[in-house]
Amino acid sequence: MTIASDSQDHPETDSSEAQYRQELVAAMHTMRQLNLNVGTAGNASVRYGNGMLISPSGVAPANLEGDDIVYVPGASDPDSTEWANARSPSRPSSEWRLHRAVLDARPDLGAVVHCHSRYATVIACARKPIPAVHYLVGLCGASQVPVTPYARFGTAELAHFAAEALASCDACLLANHGLIAAGGTVVQALALAEEIEEQAALYWHTLAIGGATVLGETEMARVLGALDVYRTPNPTKDD
Ligand code: 13P
Ligand code: ZN
Repeated sequence: MTIASDSQDHPETDSSEAQYRQELVAAMHTMRQLNLNVGTAGNASVRYGNGMLISPSGVAPANLEGDDIVYVPGASDPDSTEWANARSPSRPSSEWRLHRAVLDARPDLGAVVHCHSRYATVIACARKPIPAVHYLVGLCGASQVPVTPYARFGTAELAHFAAEALASCDACLLANHGLIAAGGTVVQALALAEEIEEQAALYWHTLAIGGATVLGETEMARVLGALDVYRTPNPTKDD
């Protein structure tokens, strides 16, 4: 497949576009290897130009190549309703509306990943948030990982719910569906998805022994402050 592009904003020769395509392919492979997804489940996007690059619909990671990644214009782009023109032979992920809604609502974020990882999806099927049974739930940027109301996959309604949930944190569960996580880069978004899957597993296991003592809002506010410091890069020896 050719890398289709006809805009000055994302020229075919742009090396960063090729790099982003490879990052998305790598993320889809990693999600499969980590068992965060099976089959053709899941998708990944990165902000690019006025829109985003996103994985294609219904392609298993093993068959995915950089040229299959699709450019989708931003909602404010005059071409926003015409992404299905000759820009790419592949169809974008059925969740392109969700990815675009999140990236539009959160200019501070650069990438979104979506997966059907087992424990997060179990909790999402119960339509429960992941509470602070462990302090690292705070990696999502809030004191719990919220769960959206149910909406069918690929719909504008689901996109709306997801953007609403990610207004105040960087990850959420999608009822009866799975997990989304966002970050500055694809690698960061994927790392957060992996962390949230672990939090979902911890929560599930605590339920199996009668439940955990959940950390309160005051303590979680302190944890969130401490995590900000924890994530500040170490000064180098020369500093
Ligand atoms: P796509 O293959 O269209 O990205 O769909 C997978 C998925 O997880 C839908 O929610
Ligand atoms: Zn899905």
